[in-house]
Amino acid sequence: MNRRAFLAGGGATVFTACAPRKPSAAIVPAAPLAAVPPLAPIRAQVDRMFRITVCLRPFRAQGPRMDVETVGDKRVVHNYGHGGSGWSLSWGSSSLAVEKALEGGGVREVGVIGCGALGLTSALLAQRAGVKVTIYAKERPPDVRSARATGLWTPDSRIALAGHAPANFPALWDRMARTSWKMYESYLGVAGDPVEWMDSYMVSNGVSGQRSQQSPQQLEFAKYNQSLDDILPQVERLAPGTHPFPAKVVSRMSNLTFHVASLSRVLVNDFLIEGGRIEHAEFRTPNDLASLPQRVLIDCTGYGARALWSDESVVPVRGQIAWLIPQPEARYGLIYDNVFVLSRRDGIVVQDGGIGEMEGYNNADESPDRAAAENSVRKIAALCGQMAVRQR
Ligand SMILES: Cc1cc2nc3c(=O)[nH]c(=O)nc-3n(C[C@H](O)[C@H](O)[C@H](O)COP(=O)(O)OP(=O)(O)OC[C@H]3O[C@@H](n4cnc5c(N)ncnc54)[C@H](O)[C@@H]3O)c2cc1C
Repeated sequence: MNRRAFLAGGGATVFTACAPRKPSAAIVPAAPLAAVPPLAPIRAQVDRMFRITVCLRPFRAQGPRMDVETVGDKRVVHNYGHGGSGWSLSWGSSSLAVEKALEGGGVREVGVIGCGALGLTSALLAQRAGVKVTIYAKERPPDVRSARATGLWTPDSRIALAGHAPANFPALWDRMARTSWKMYESYLGVAGDPVEWMDSYMVSNGVSGQRSQQSPQQLEFAKYNQSLDDILPQVERLAPGTHPFPAKVVSRMSNLTFHVASLSRVLVNDFLIEGGRIEHAEFRTPNDLASLPQRVLIDCTGYGARALWSDESVVPVRGQIAWLIPQPEARYGLIYDNVFVLSRRDGIVVQDGGIGEMEGYNNADESPDRAAAENSVRKIAALCGQMAVRQR
């Protein structure tokens, strides 16, 4: 199994696409000194659920839209459609968008449409390039869809369909991922811990019980993560007795985690401190953009692009999260019985309903499913209950 197959949450295929690709990406035995420190069990109780959120990933079979279009007297640089990878690729994708926006020189002002992961990073990068930036958006954090993400480094989660992206996309993706990786490193150790390394454990009693329920229609999603093997830690297999889980097979992976509440706040504050402005606006058709004073716009409307640009290539991929009260003493992730848990500072994310990549595909229903949320919390309760017994 490779790192990508391990990953869940943001939506990497889990347990269903775990063919090893090359030795460096294979699971390795943990070093003897790498035994798991005592882990506090997650208090997975239905009465500790304080909210359920649903979000739509803006997926495009051909990858994100990043071309430049002329609308009236405006140059519009598109930067939307990042599927389950929007946070992970944000800085890289936005740096390409800003390059295009400023191409030719002489640009003094840029308007950014959207205030999610892509809008905020585009705005900050344009600002850092020396131009005056205004963000126009219908919602800002915490009301944007980006605020409802799991918060993991998942740069090739539902980013394209295999064979549908342009030939140059894998190289472009690699560049975007590496640029983002480097930028997120600069947020480690920052007050509020917007970005942090955390361990996740995949706990299994055998492969068969762990398969996600897939819909009959199966699409093959593009996988690029192996090109990042040189910068990513490997997945480790933990020997029995070195961990507290009541399971035959346990693996561990260290991953970059985005504490999204704090990260969004840091990004908004940085933008405002540098003189940026955020204005409430809703654009119903491209013609509405004519009212803006800027000649150059970066379009970061995420799933909203489907309606704004009548772009039916943007497919919704629904994802639901149940939130448990935070536990600072239990800062880790868990993958168990088709549920992904991530104990973030702003809440414990329990991503339910199946974590295979087809889950939620073409489903635009953003209403919460409480029964599914409770079911996932109970699965984790079953595991953590036994974990507690073993630790006593
Ligand atoms: C359950 C779930 C878990 C996820 N986990 C991860 C993860 O762990 N890691 C990861 O990298 N990604 C993850 N994602 C994917 C990530 O959330 C998206 O790729 C990302 O949110 C897209 O960001 P965005 O800025 O393009 O869109 P949004 O956050 O939706 O922002 C769009 C902005 O545009 C504005 N807007 C839209 N239309 C208009 C309009 N017509 N007029 C004015 N304003 C408009 C909105 O108000 C908003 O401000 C997850 C997604 C889901 C659903």
